[in-house]
Amino acid sequence: MGVFRRTKIVATLGPASESPEVLDRLIGAGVNVVRLNFSHGTPEEHRKRAENVRAAAKKHGVYIGILADMQGPKIRCGKFIKGKTMLTPGQHFIVDGALDLDAGTDERVGITYKELIGDVEPGARLLLNDGLIVMDVDKIVGQEIHCTVVIGGELSNNKGINRAGGGLSAAALTDKDKEDIKTACAIGVDYIAISFPRDGADMDYARTLVEAEGSRAGLVAKVERAEAVMDANLISILESSDVVMVARGDLGVEIGDAAVPPAQKKILRMAPKYNCPVIVATQMMESMCNNPIPTRAEVNDVANAVLDGTDAIMLSGETAAGKYPVEAVEAMHRTCLETEKQPVMASAQTRDPRYPPQSVDECIARQAMEVSHIMPIKAIAAFTQSGNTALYMSRHLSRVPIYALTPLQSTAGRVTLFRNVIPKPISGDYGPTDAQKATQDAFAIMLYDKLVEKDDLVVMTLGTPMGHAGATNTMKIVQAANVFEG
Ligand code: PGA
Ligand code: MN
Repeated sequence: MGVFRRTKIVATLGPASESPEVLDRLIGAGVNVVRLNFSHGTPEEHRKRAENVRAAAKKHGVYIGILADMQGPKIRCGKFIKGKTMLTPGQHFIVDGALDLDAGTDERVGITYKELIGDVEPGARLLLNDGLIVMDVDKIVGQEIHCTVVIGGELSNNKGINRAGGGLSAAALTDKDKEDIKTACAIGVDYIAISFPRDGADMDYARTLVEAEGSRAGLVAKVERAEAVMDANLISILESSDVVMVARGDLGVEIGDAAVPPAQKKILRMAPKYNCPVIVATQMMESMCNNPIPTRAEVNDVANAVLDGTDAIMLSGETAAGKYPVEAVEAMHRTCLETEKQPVMASAQTRDPRYPPQSVDECIARQAMEVSHIMPIKAIAAFTQSGNTALYMSRHLSRVPIYALTPLQSTAGRVTLFRNVIPKPISGDYGPTDAQKATQDAFAIMLYDKLVEKDDLVVMTLGTPMGHAGATNTMKIVQAANVFEG
């Protein structure tokens, strides 16, 4: 290792990146988590991708998290007989709930979500193809939504449809999502992302489905509906989710592009109170779909997300279908490293003192971070079953790497998204008197990574006596040189 990047990189797999060769290079370039997009592909394809990721990770000796992203109630137009139509401003166009999904013409197109008719009224604005095409609703006639095109352009098969301002009745979990959750749990993914949740109740419902499969997968709430950024809803989402994603693509369509930066900052500002990690997603390196280097604006966007304390940044089309998937990861990597050098990123700032620790392990985690600010600590080694200690530690801004040493695969997977945290599976068969052996094992791992040398001070946290299930209750400050002598 030697180089430690604190911010995590999520890369979406697709035709441009799923071959074992490219996967190998992506992991070599520093990807921490891969995203399987369940909007495309069969269960068998997802299973195969997950296998390839695990094989590549094993080869590199790292733990790579797998995030399964549910399609959710994404409303799409149907197909056109000619594959597309050209819309001009002022033109009349019908979104037709009664039309076959493959029978679109220059006058009308079908729709995947028939209930849209009940959710719009004259004056409502529809945004198609990520907002590139805009039309206003004039009237509803039976199953037909009659519109006037405001911003025209080419509309081709299966493009997304959003309603400006949100307010769609579609449930967050579709029948397809419910099937896909079963597939994702069977594959053993580390995270499942729920698309378009309205509030915490949608996330609670998703959790009942995941738990029914006997899975420990973490739940990611994609904040991408206008309703989801309203205070009360956002708070309930932060309370009921393991991670939130600022899903800027659909969010920008629903609330308008100019409202996305304040929404992103608000989420990043509120999340720490709920110990909720954040992923910033969509168009971060968009121009790299076609170019080998990013724009200055994209580099700035990544740097600002890091400065605002995000845990992870995500690549979508750049790695799924772009021409330069590996270069996009490299561009994120070097931008993060440079940004993380900024003094503010290592300020002695701990978690806001207004949020007192809620448990013994959270208290120990906070003390470990305090110590790492006032002593020349090179690393923190946290023995953890649930991953909670690593989660609590990673909520503090710090330059010190946090090793999450865990016998559980599910926990190693969970911590892959946490800022500053390095997942390390360990054997775990420690007895009550094995603290010394555990300490030596921890040092062996850290010395191997070259982030620590034998005279360096390290903070270690663990639950004693070892071998009993139970939360972290102990912190010590140790030096490798001493541990191997005694
Ligand atoms: P998607 O979600 O890529 O699945 O649409 C992310 C977003 O909307 O930004
Ligand atoms: Mn989306």
